[in-house]
Amino acid sequence: MTKGKNKRRGICYLCGKEGIVTDDHVPPQCLAPQADNSIFYKLPAHERCNNALSVHESRFRDFVVAASNNGVPEAEDAFENMQTNFRRYGNEERSGFLNRDFFRLFENIELREGYSPGGGIYLGPVIGIRPSEDLDYKSVLIKIARGLHFYHCLQIIPDNYDMVADFVFSDFERHVGYIQRSNVAGQMGDFFAYKGTRIKDEPKCGIWYLYFYRSVLATVVFIKPKELR
Ligand SMILES: [Zn+2]
Repeated sequence: MTKGKNKRRGICYLCGKEGIVTDDHVPPQCLAPQADNSIFYKLPAHERCNNALSVHESRFRDFVVAASNNGVPEAEDAFENMQTNFRRYGNEERSGFLNRDFFRLFENIELREGYSPGGGIYLGPVIGIRPSEDLDYKSVLIKIARGLHFYHCLQIIPDNYDMVADFVFSDFERHVGYIQRSNVAGQMGDFFAYKGTRIKDEPKCGIWYLYFYRSVLATVVFIKPKELR
């Protein structure tokens, strides 16, 4: 997998242990494969820690692309990649069938009641999509947020910390205050933006909002475990 990705000794931002590390892209490069490599953060990680979620990162990309609106160029690149992924099993392509990844994604489409973000204006039923059972999207979100926390706060989140992650598909009002109070923000092209903050006096605690393809919002919270409080 590694093609001279700046191999060196260092401390892994994911597990906190020292060893041979390479550059891990934050967020995962598969979200925007055509985007300029220089806009990603490159953080030191063991190759094993870096690659542990790669299957889920690719499924995550497929899910977020499918759940997002059209019109974001990077989403289209990612969409192409998703389709390539769907076509990977050539014999199925020739016979006109798509592979299991395709069905895994589209089995999860559902109609849900649509409301405008923040406004509560009823939009009628909209097509929603929920992550499939075999997509560990929470771990993918947590990995991205750990990267942001490391990049901005120079802190590694210990494994025994509570880490809560989810998409925000409704109830936007509840999050507005946190988003406004976040003092760290960043943007990478049209495919990824974030806001977040660490908690005062608790450098390893924080809240991060991740925004994919200008349409899918997620949140990750790092909390000190009860027994350490
Ligand atoms: Zn590691």
